[in-house]
Amino acid sequence: MTDIALNHWLTEFRRELHRFPELSNEEFETTRRLREALEAKQIRILDLPLRTGLVVEVGGQRPGPLVILRADIDALPIEEVSGVPWPSENPGVMHACGHDFHSAAALGAAILLREKEESLAGTVRIIFQPAEETGHGAPAVLATGALDGAKAIFGIHNDPALPVGVIGSKAGALTAGVDRFKIDVRGRGSHAARPHEGNDPLIIAAHLVTALQTLISRNLDSRENAVVSVTQVHGGSTWNVIPETAWLEGTVRTFSQSAREGLERRFHDVTEGVARTFNAEVTLDWQPGPPSIINTAEWVDFALEVGEKSGFETRRLEENPIGEDFAFYLQKLPGAFIMVGSGGPFALHHPQFRVDDAALYPTAQWLAGLAEAALISGHLK
Ligand SMILES: [Zn+2]
Ligand SMILES: [Zn+2]
Repeated sequence: MTDIALNHWLTEFRRELHRFPELSNEEFETTRRLREALEAKQIRILDLPLRTGLVVEVGGQRPGPLVILRADIDALPIEEVSGVPWPSENPGVMHACGHDFHSAAALGAAILLREKEESLAGTVRIIFQPAEETGHGAPAVLATGALDGAKAIFGIHNDPALPVGVIGSKAGALTAGVDRFKIDVRGRGSHAARPHEGNDPLIIAAHLVTALQTLISRNLDSRENAVVSVTQVHGGSTWNVIPETAWLEGTVRTFSQSAREGLERRFHDVTEGVARTFNAEVTLDWQPGPPSIINTAEWVDFALEVGEKSGFETRRLEENPIGEDFAFYLQKLPGAFIMVGSGGPFALHHPQFRVDDAALYPTAQWLAGLAEAALISGHLK
């Protein structure tokens, strides 16, 4: 296929994925579409126990190392109002994180690599990963042995804050460790006029919100970055009754393991302390998500150098407090996660989010070039 034909075909393929987005672990049609496209190009699909998602391989005709490219394939429970002429046809579900773009770019890379399979100095494995948005997709793929034998792994995420034609990353911590918390407060209900006969859970919840905010300002080393956001507070049902219970929920974002562990410990201290102060039952449910992405410095440099050679402008980025389950792969293998400019005015997860088509084909070409070059790079020696 010529570049123009493949570019056109990939653009149409990406729009089709966009029209039929599926939630995490329900990516059955997405997987079917990818499978059909891969089979049409005679690309080897590995037989792994995955309900959704696919792992494929290209190359291996010449001896050499194994490197991995990874794209995610799931969408979000958002009603699309992006205004593109090919919007979501699945009500309430939208590719608002651009995983349709990632999938199509990785598919394009697979096709480009397949066309030069005989010359590859090793094997390129490509993971089309389900359920990134839950943070549990990568561990599930890891458990199938999909990383076995590999020497390095590369992943991408589109970044609407960067223009099309720009890629960027950073050595070390790039994304945040993501933890989710829920706190249940059990007080004692009473008439609003007789609070002394009850134990007001709303006062306790309010103290918790305030005390938790001081963990960043008073407990975290000022040289560290972290975020505590309480995003829901619930309690009560009318104006003249003090309720029995209240609950709140939110997220903690950190960039180092020490900050992550320290904040979790202080969350327990604060909830136990507030419970004692108000003589109430306060329970903390702490749900750890993906850790921080820790990029390997030499692979970041390498990926950006290959990008420059294929016409991208490259940037060194700051830490970004989003979560990304690619971090689990980087706990097992060296590699790099690279942000790709998608040039939108709207942020990831916004109902008007969109990715510029022009970003797609150059990304596929760069990913193919990156995998091919990584196989013969000195970093694998
Ligand atoms: Zn997302
Ligand atoms: Zn995403």
